[in-house]
Amino acid sequence: MNLHLSGHVAIVTGGSRGIGAAICRALAAEGADIALLYASNAEKAEETAAACAAYGVCAKAYACHVENEEEAAQTVRDILSAFGRIDILVNNAGITRDKLVNGMRASDFDDVIDVNLRGAFHMLRAVYPLMAKQRSGRILNISSVAGLSGNAGQVNYAASKAGLIGMTKSAAKELAARGVTCNAIAPGFISTDMTEKFAQDEKTLHAIPVRRMGSAEEVGALAAFLCSPQAAYITGEVIRIDGGMMM
Ligand code: NAP
Repeated sequence: MNLHLSGHVAIVTGGSRGIGAAICRALAAEGADIALLYASNAEKAEETAAACAAYGVCAKAYACHVENEEEAAQTVRDILSAFGRIDILVNNAGITRDKLVNGMRASDFDDVIDVNLRGAFHMLRAVYPLMAKQRSGRILNISSVAGLSGNAGQVNYAASKAGLIGMTKSAAKELAARGVTCNAIAPGFISTDMTEKFAQDEKTLHAIPVRRMGSAEEVGALAAFLCSPQAAYITGEVIRIDGGMMM
């Protein structure tokens, strides 16, 4: 399917590795120019930018801690002046600090909420007026099945991912009349650095009806569709991509 993304500019947070990098590549393969944000892994970020540029699009990596409001706002201003427009925002940056509630410090809770939820808010705020004014845009938040069903050891993470779903639906309602959609993807177990420790875990695989972990590329393909003009009538939706784990 040709998703007609050439001339569109996409910001992907956490684009250096894993799911974010696969989303960058999938959007670039459909012709979108890519501004990818990362926290500290400049080498991986430049690798992903080069992989995107190989599709003949413009791709640039920006170091930006999304939990820092001023950094996020300044990075969006820098991207706007370098690329001239912003059509797509994918809030993908995420961290975990897994512990049972008994052992979870308030700082573990705050760190995860700050990056996963407040960071997404900072990015949303920065692109909101641009997209509302141009009367078009795509916002995609990477949530998790943990945000739908909860997960022992992830009170902080599940709260951040459930929060993203509320944010998605509220922004979708605010922006629908402006031609801007806002959706969420809720992945199950996807093979990345974040889930390395589960890769060979029989119990984990047994809980997944298709009996394997998903690939970042599979999430990338779904993300690219939701960011395309063809997905104009889908908004406020949360789409699970979990091999049937939560059905
Ligand atoms: P990952 O491999 O650990 O990659 C995390 C990405 O986020 C990296 O690009 C990292 O940048 C970036 N990042 C971390 N902290 C950041 C910050 N403060 N500011 C900006 N960027 C930051 O994670 P992943 O597995 O690809 O997960 C991507 C998203 O999908 C996350 O939101 C995660 O919660 C969600 N998700 C993943 C799974 C899964 O099974 N993997 C399942 C459900 C949901 P650096 O490279 O610079 O560190």
